[in-house]
Amino acid sequence: MSSTFSLDPGADQLAVRDWLHGFAADVIRPAAAEWDEREETPWPIIQEAAKLGIYSLDFYAQQYFDPSGVGIPIAMEELFWGDAGIGLSIVGTTLAAVAVLANGTDEQIGTWTPQMFGTPDDVKVAAFCSSEPDAGSDVGALRTRAVYDEAKDEWVLNGTKTWATNGGIAAVHVVVASVDPELGTRGHASFVVPPGTPGLSQGQKFKKHGIRASHTAEVVLDGVRVPGSCLLGGKEKLDERLARAREGAKRAGGKSNAAMATFEASRPAVGAQAIGIARAAYEVALDYARTREQFGRPIIDNQGVAFQLADMKTRIDAARLLVWRASWMAVNNQPFTSAEGSMSKLYAGETAKFVTAQAMQILGGNGFTREYPVERMHRDSAIYSIFEGTSEIQRLVIARAISGMPIR
Ligand SMILES: Cc1cc2nc3c(=O)[nH]c(=O)nc-3n(C[C@H](O)[C@H](O)[C@H](O)COP(=O)(O)OP(=O)(O)OC[C@H]3O[C@@H](n4cnc5c(N)ncnc54)[C@H](O)[C@@H]3O)c2cc1C
Repeated sequence: MSSTFSLDPGADQLAVRDWLHGFAADVIRPAAAEWDEREETPWPIIQEAAKLGIYSLDFYAQQYFDPSGVGIPIAMEELFWGDAGIGLSIVGTTLAAVAVLANGTDEQIGTWTPQMFGTPDDVKVAAFCSSEPDAGSDVGALRTRAVYDEAKDEWVLNGTKTWATNGGIAAVHVVVASVDPELGTRGHASFVVPPGTPGLSQGQKFKKHGIRASHTAEVVLDGVRVPGSCLLGGKEKLDERLARAREGAKRAGGKSNAAMATFEASRPAVGAQAIGIARAAYEVALDYARTREQFGRPIIDNQGVAFQLADMKTRIDAARLLVWRASWMAVNNQPFTSAEGSMSKLYAGETAKFVTAQAMQILGGNGFTREYPVERMHRDSAIYSIFEGTSEIQRLVIARAISGMPIR
């Protein structure tokens, strides 16, 4: 499947956008302040999304395979325009689902992805657990170990994961662990930990600066035993990969390349979330600047304020173009020769921080209070230069891609 890159998403995708916008405006936005204060997962809203078909693997698959190539960013932008904390609670499960889709066998995909979402009457969430206290940007430093117990055909997992979205409250956890520490990232493998598995527990739940409706916690793995069938991709494939890595066959088909390609493909979706926040803050600021009067005229009458809004809108549109291009490239299997996926996430994340800070400035004292939503949006935007690869790591990836040099 291949389509020409176009800035017209087409009638079907515009209809989805309008439908999601309605949900974001009617259900998510009015609940945003409450769940931000409660710092709890908004289960009733996830359930409502599930009833409407917005919280399901089918929905995301449909958006991903939309011929326009921009189905996912459009969906993300609308949901996160509603609210980023609730938005992440709704889409956080997809992190784990994508790990299974990218690395799992057809049987594993069929078994685990439905359990990640549950049913509209009994919704579940899933967690993707890679980061550790000493392994954030430096994924190669992770210490969680997976040891194979051949007699029982079971893997035994031990370690502590941190900052896991939905960690501990998830039905299904996907855990990245080292099966051969000497091989660094090429000695990593991903495991599904089924619901209710003994030895997996939630550690500290973090109190956060932003996206507070999204649950973030440590996940402790203490002698967790999972069947051999929970190794994503299967043992044969892992053994082949480890053998290749040990022989030093680094590049073609190696995990590093595959993992990088997966990151490039998933980063535009995260960029689109940031654009949703930025657009929301920009709209509040534009509206406010038109109506707030000082010195006997609307504040937007001042070039100083109007130019701020012009910059905000320009950056939002530029970010969206980068995100749409990268998303289209991913769907159409185009090579990310200049790390275009990372570019889109970098620029969109920084744009969200810039725009929400400007919005707060335009709202003056009101912008600093919780009476207006830009204060929350400003807090929420901060995560977009940190998770899914910090802005510095995106620059590193882009710099390496464009130079071919092992830049450190
Ligand atoms: C709310 C939230 C949700 C998250 N959800 C998940 C999740 O679901 N699953 C999961 O696995 N992880 C998750 N994370 C973890 C997240 O991906 C990491 O926080 C992120 O990768 C950065 O790692 P770190 O925090 O250890 O920062 P560090 O890696 O310690 O970085 C600290 C600073 O040093 C800079 N730095 C580090 N190395 C370099 C370098 N080589 N060159 C230049 N600068 C560098 C970084 O850019 C950063 O500014 C989440 C984090 C948060 C806060």
